[in-house]
Amino acid sequence: MKKHQLITIGSLFLAFAATAAANDEPVYKNPQSSVDERVKDLLGRMTLEEKISYCSGVREQYIRDIPRLGLPAINMQDGPIGVHGGGTTFPPGIALAATFDPELLYQVGQALGRDSRGIGVHVTLGPAMNIVRSPILGRAAEYYGEDPYLTARLVPSLINGVQSQGVMASAKHFIGNEFELIRTGSDSIIDERTLREIYLPPFEAAVKSGNVATIMGAYNHVNGAHACVNPHTLKEILRDEWGFQGIILSDWGAGGGPAITWAMGPLDVAMPSGAMGNPSVVMPLIKEGKIDPAVYDQKVSHILHKIIEFGFLDRPQKDSSFAVRSPAALATALQISREATVLLKNKGNLLPLSPPTIRSVAVIGPGAEVGKDSTPYPTGIAGSSFNECPNTVSVAQALQQLSGDKMKIVVVPDYLSGLYNTTNYFHKGADGKLEPGLQASYFKNADFSGKPDLERVDKDLSFNHGWRNKGWLKELRPFKKLSVRWTGSIKPAKTGLYRFVKESNLGMKVWLDGKMIIDDLSKFDTDHWVYPTGGVVQKLEGGRSHDLKIEYTNRPEVAHMFGVRFGWGPAEPTAELEAARSCDAVVACYGYGFMTEGEGFDRTWELPYSQAEILEKVSKANPRTIVVLNGGGACQTESWIGQVPALIQAWYYADAGAQAVAEILLGKVNPSGKLPISFAKRWEDNPSSPYFKADWSKGSKPINYTEGIFVGYRGFDQAGVEPLFPFGHGLSYTTFGYANLALHLGEPGKEKDFLTVTCDLTNTGSQDGTEVVQLYVGDDHAPVARPAKELKGFQRVSLKPGETKSVSFVLTPRDLSYYDVTQKAWILSPGKFTISVGSSSRDLPLKEVIEVGKVNDK
Ligand code: BGC
Repeated sequence: MKKHQLITIGSLFLAFAATAAANDEPVYKNPQSSVDERVKDLLGRMTLEEKISYCSGVREQYIRDIPRLGLPAINMQDGPIGVHGGGTTFPPGIALAATFDPELLYQVGQALGRDSRGIGVHVTLGPAMNIVRSPILGRAAEYYGEDPYLTARLVPSLINGVQSQGVMASAKHFIGNEFELIRTGSDSIIDERTLREIYLPPFEAAVKSGNVATIMGAYNHVNGAHACVNPHTLKEILRDEWGFQGIILSDWGAGGGPAITWAMGPLDVAMPSGAMGNPSVVMPLIKEGKIDPAVYDQKVSHILHKIIEFGFLDRPQKDSSFAVRSPAALATALQISREATVLLKNKGNLLPLSPPTIRSVAVIGPGAEVGKDSTPYPTGIAGSSFNECPNTVSVAQALQQLSGDKMKIVVVPDYLSGLYNTTNYFHKGADGKLEPGLQASYFKNADFSGKPDLERVDKDLSFNHGWRNKGWLKELRPFKKLSVRWTGSIKPAKTGLYRFVKESNLGMKVWLDGKMIIDDLSKFDTDHWVYPTGGVVQKLEGGRSHDLKIEYTNRPEVAHMFGVRFGWGPAEPTAELEAARSCDAVVACYGYGFMTEGEGFDRTWELPYSQAEILEKVSKANPRTIVVLNGGGACQTESWIGQVPALIQAWYYADAGAQAVAEILLGKVNPSGKLPISFAKRWEDNPSSPYFKADWSKGSKPINYTEGIFVGYRGFDQAGVEPLFPFGHGLSYTTFGYANLALHLGEPGKEKDFLTVTCDLTNTGSQDGTEVVQLYVGDDHAPVARPAKELKGFQRVSLKPGETKSVSFVLTPRDLSYYDVTQKAWILSPGKFTISVGSSSRDLPLKEVIEVGKVNDK
């Protein structure tokens, strides 16, 4: 297959070259000329207007075509987890990180590249490599966790894989985009050392080891200047220090800054468009001497260099010999989930589930069944990276298939999702009689002012997938702001307790019989900067009509609107509890989903809706409750974790993850995923918790990164706080023994093989297994405060029972250094360093101290 592709590309290339020569075509069209010659020739043929407009995107996703010169439109598509237009959906960045497997990431990159070629995409907009500073960061799932070393080791593999297929990757979002809700107006205040040690290394690796073709500037400001024109980060660091020669794109909508600043800044392409690429704005400014036209030669030259280097002028990008969603790509997606799923807890070795102890399993929760409109979407995340996952199976289906007739799998339709589907609503019709549905008034403003723009009756309030579903409120589009009021009544059959639930990334107020029962619109959670997704329980009288009024408003600060749902029904999850009592074990699939975690908003620390309460009840009803969590990171577990013997972090399933979870539950796959984040016991324990907020009353909206370099496990160590599950943690069904740590210091002053560390790993259990051996470095003698330990090496090692392998790591001086802001350099402070090796950041059985002298060569 691969050979065939190469032949096809090769023959196209030769055919083109032959035609070019025969027609005596211009230098830029001749693939045999050097890239520099071709760029120079092309620049000489472009008019100034053409150069200016080349620096603004067109039709939302493209670098514009110039038919006069035969330049094709360059198609840029999201995103990190799957190529839009039908590509395979891979688990998100956080799951890729949990594999600790650079080779597998190269395969993912290749598969993304092949899907891009099959679809005709020139630039795939990923990987996304910001740091998960807080678990509630809305896009945590897209990123690679809290550790810069791990991210920096992984992203170049994915980029190299993508680019090996003739497709550009885009490292995003440069930089300081660790906050979603007000990302377009915020200013990330990050000190220089923290920038260098925590936030920049992934991008540095993308440039230096991944040779990434494009970098996407973020929406936010960084230390006072917009990330897309920031002279320090883009010019001094990215271009001058790292020598980045590729294309700097703006994030979508971030390219619209004032023409002069944007044109004179380092940005090459404003996306999806921007004044700096508009000749009618720029030409007069050039005439007035306010913009130097030479900047356009430089910007266009960056773009053309990459376009020519990637062969976009010499072949069509769409190539049907690259199969989209190929079986090989789907197999890679499954392999990632097998390696990424983390077994966090397994008390009494409850897992894997097997007869005779376990003969029946109840599968409950919104994540048990996927893909239905009424359920959250555990296959992917909300926002630009969202990608469809056709034909995916649910955990329940996969369990049924894999266990055959050995185990009875009882699937319980999700209680919470069921509440949203109720149609038990009434309003007064024209003749005063009660009719089905609520009376709805829609306003194209955020405060219900003026006459409604749309009045209608809504039979249920389950408006899911609002952002992508262009059919939703078609009558009202386009609109930026929206407020909706629903009025009418509900009528329960029996007297009793009823639960009211709401879900939206925006706020809502609800009145029952004139009394406000939900108000997260005015009680917007300014500590966490999120809208709670909660539920309340109220007593209702059977057979009586109860008045209901609901108000929903979106806020202009919020980037996207994902939909809104409201529902009600009996307070008890009766079917779940009955199934829990009658089965030997429960697999409870809960967590976040399409409506509760994603781009443009930050999420709650608490699990959405009333999930925690249900987990408490179910785990009391059946002590063999295994919780399977979807989401991009840690969440509140306090009320149920003590009662639950087993917990699995499943991230998001994408095309095949539910299958992997079922395989792990049944022991067909031995788990090997490790946490790329810390899992705190309480919200307050997260090192960024006091600072993960902004003051909207201040125009600049600063986001202070006050915890500095003490992000994630570095912060837990610094504060002496024990996490619930530490960074790097992940259990296996087998056990491993660590021994024989040996350190060898190479020739002083030599970067290469500077410090070699070896140890032995033995599979001490009774089945095949894979361990991620982790190496941490500690320095407590430097003149600046340093973390107690930092990850500086890892390796996946697979072993048969009883087998031992030697594992070795090579460290560079930089691995032992800190960034000195005065000297503007990485400094290795001579003295004693602690080298620890083990299976997580808090389980390090091997430890040795080594004295390191002065190193000249950095
Ligand atoms: C996101 C980017 C994405 C772009 C294009 C933006 O809203 O922040 O990650 O690549 O849209 O869809």
